[in-house]
Amino acid sequence: MKQKKSERFLCAQKSKGFLTCPMCEEGTLTEGKIRENMFGVYLGEFPAEICNKCGESFTDDKTTNAIQESAKRKGIWGLGRKTKISFSTSVFH
Ligand SMILES: [Zn+2]
Repeated sequence: MKQKKSERFLCAQKSKGFLTCPMCEEGTLTEGKIRENMFGVYLGEFPAEICNKCGESFTDDKTTNAIQESAKRKGIWGLGRKTKISFSTSVFH
């Protein structure tokens, strides 16, 4: 039986002092920083909650927007929607 993960996520946030990872549901999310790359272009460091088990990182809306803004400034936002670019970093270097 699958429940809405977002609701469980919020429950975990409220009831305990830490966040349970919604991806693997075993790890704990801890505050950290992610180095965000898009199409081989480094966008910067952003705060994120990172799972100590599966390594998945989660950003809130504000940070997700900041990542998008950074991608737009570098002119790479939206590239992924036009064509399925293979993640070849050599193109940009
Ligand atoms: Zn996890």
